[in-house]
Amino acid sequence: MHDIARFITGFKKFQQRYFCDDSSLFDELKDGQHPKTLVVACIDSRVDPAILTGSSPGDLLVVRNVANLVPPYEPEGGHHGVSAALEHGVTKLEVEHVIVLGHSCCGGIQALLAPRDEHGDHTEFLGKWVGIAEHARTQTLRELTHKTPEQQHRACEQAAILISLENLLTFPWIKERVETGRLFLHGWYFDMQRGELSSYLPESASFEPLAPRCR
Ligand SMILES: [Zn+2]
Repeated sequence: MHDIARFITGFKKFQQRYFCDDSSLFDELKDGQHPKTLVVACIDSRVDPAILTGSSPGDLLVVRNVANLVPPYEPEGGHHGVSAALEHGVTKLEVEHVIVLGHSCCGGIQALLAPRDEHGDHTEFLGKWVGIAEHARTQTLRELTHKTPEQQHRACEQAAILISLENLLTFPWIKERVETGRLFLHGWYFDMQRGELSSYLPESASFEPLAPRCR
């Protein structure tokens, strides 16, 4: 109950700030949202995009799932929560940026890399979901065979971001907007051990710091 009481106290602070002290932001937002950025983030409790980026209500459209994955464009059947969020953000709200926000110490990627036996990974949903990034797993295990588990995890976390960026471009309405300069895709990586944020640079095919660690 301690957490629940803390959440209510937290909401009261939010209420004080946005509805008592100054209601101008929600006076505007209640008539509609116009976020310019959609973030695909992990469900991980340590990686809240709004907290990490110092954003305010109305700034970010956020879709969160295990390991911040984007599935490929598969319009036939199924319940596609991520694809529906992308469709709403890109075609209805016309966001200008889509950020795939990965992170270190990702439990989803850990599940992807976990050893399997002949019965698979013994999960009902998790294994199938993180299988979206199967190519990142095989690539990591092939190229970094002799590296430490931490180095493999980090490489796989970053490779999975690139798979999601590739998958974004399989959505025709995303590809068309990217090609005409109306939409920009970003692959970001939050390193929680170092307190650092990096971005994927296609020119160097590597993640380069946007905000290097502090000393
Ligand atoms: Zn994660």
